[in-house]
Amino acid sequence: MSDNRMSRDQITGVGCDVTNCKYNTIDSKCSASHIDVQNDRATTKSETYCATFCPRGCCD
Ligand code: SF4
Repeated sequence: MSDNRMSRDQITGVGCDVTNCKYNTIDSKCSASHIDVQNDRATTKSETYCATFCPRGCCD
């Protein structure tokens, strides 16, 4: 049996501090069903970009 009590469409275990993103929860987690991380040439953490990021207030 799955232990996914909290989530239906939510990936678990992704913490994120981007509070301006509409998927960011009050406890600093990501509530999106999936995320895409872009920049296949990234060599540092800061060069990785969450393509799923969506500013709060955007329609979808
Ligand atoms: S979609 Fe990306 S930026 Fe937004 S909360 Fe999830 S991991 Fe963070």
